[in-house]
Amino acid sequence: MKIHEYQARDLFREYGIPVNDYKLVANAKEAAEAAKNWKQTVVKAQVLVGGRGKAGGVKLADSAAETEEKAAKILGLNIKGCKVEKLLVCDAAPIAREHYLGLVLDRARQGVTIMLTNQGGVDIEELAVSNPDAIHKLTLLPDEPVSDEALNAFMAQAIEAEAQRKQALAALKALYKLFLEKDASLAEINPYAMTPDGNMLALDGKINFDDNALFRHPEIAALRNPEEDSPDEVEAREKNLSFVSMDGDIGCIVNGAGLAMATMDLIQHYGGKPANFLDVGGSSNPQKVADALSIILRNRRVRAILINIFGGITRCDDIANGLLMARKQIDIRVPLVIRLVGTNQEEGKAILKEAGYSAGNDLDEAVKDVITAAGGAA
Ligand code: GDP
Ligand code: MN
Repeated sequence: MKIHEYQARDLFREYGIPVNDYKLVANAKEAAEAAKNWKQTVVKAQVLVGGRGKAGGVKLADSAAETEEKAAKILGLNIKGCKVEKLLVCDAAPIAREHYLGLVLDRARQGVTIMLTNQGGVDIEELAVSNPDAIHKLTLLPDEPVSDEALNAFMAQAIEAEAQRKQALAALKALYKLFLEKDASLAEINPYAMTPDGNMLALDGKINFDDNALFRHPEIAALRNPEEDSPDEVEAREKNLSFVSMDGDIGCIVNGAGLAMATMDLIQHYGGKPANFLDVGGSSNPQKVADALSIILRNRRVRAILINIFGGITRCDDIANGLLMARKQIDIRVPLVIRLVGTNQEEGKAILKEAGYSAGNDLDEAVKDVITAAGGAA
């Protein structure tokens, strides 16, 4: 789960990471009002996509009137498909140097990697390509404590002055605490700026959280922004379906996340493009199949649907009944290819046959058939 910059700043504050002052506003008038407290402001679009600065979503202003004007402009923007509905007005900090300080989960090493550079401000992904040596990395492992001396030496590669390094070290520890306590997968401060009078300030923040750990953090789950997900994904979540939309043309209904991944891989392997990941889950309930079909069919790009069921707890006859139920509720306007094996497969196939559908056993064949039905491999 992603959150907005202002939400990340609130968490930074809670954990004692210094940030420049800020106020969230919803319109240009409120922006002007907020700007009255400060000499110079930064007006920033609050959107859940990166690169908003380059897209015109971050502007400096020298007066309340100018803040109002810039706010009105930014509110009219559409940044990578995201409508700007909220703005942050910040007390502009003078900048002597821009650093980047980030923490990212290292799944392979089961640790958290610190990333630090004194060439912040720009996209870290860009720097990783143009000047990878400028990004210093250190992986913290849960059972191998790192001494303050070692951390200090690591930080010294990017922050020479001791006074600033001390501040950065405190910020790093606070960020790490936040990261662990809230089950983040990414936490970054960019720019992590040094002001001319030597203060280290977070001027922008980005935090992603592990969705599977949100149940432990109701206060973080409450930060969820519905615009993060497509309407289909929101509806699927409400109906207890695990669903992610993608940009291909082959709809997929599968039971089990592992099988769903394998099915998508196989579609890709034979030259097709999946339109979604959809796991109807273990317990079979005909209504779930009907819900899944109706969500997938709303996507006008979908040209064929593959139903791939390997029945264990899921019963093939329930899946077949779900399909018939869906047919009564909605117009299934595209070809269906069905592979049905496992618990009650004969019953399931008999129900489908009665209704004029056929179901096979072989997954490779089913995948090839659905690609043909969608118009052939790319
Ligand atoms: P992003 O491009 O979406 O990551 O937006 P940022 O909040 O990181 O801002 C982009 C750039 O705007 C920064 O790298 C700075 O150069 C500039 N900027 C942001 N906040 C301030 C500020 O308080 N003072 C000054 N002088 N520049 C700022
Ligand atoms: Mn930034």
